[in-house]
Amino acid sequence: MSGKVYTIKTACPQCGCSAVSHLTADEIREKFGDVPNVEMECSECLAKYTTDMKTACPEWDKECKMRQ
Ligand SMILES: [Zn+2]
Repeated sequence: MSGKVYTIKTACPQCGCSAVSHLTADEIREKFGDVPNVEMECSECLAKYTTDMKTACPEWDKECKMRQ
């Protein structure tokens, strides 16, 4: 278990507001699972949208691929 924190950046396609989450690897797995897409809910307009993990958090995406 590592304490490394990943930054996940997303932007709402509906209102354009961006969200930044700081999550550890365990939190990412718990929240999103090992999927290529992140499911987010906008805190402003409550729209649900998905973003490529590649785009939202390139660092996490890279480490996932290295582990496989
Ligand atoms: Zn929004």
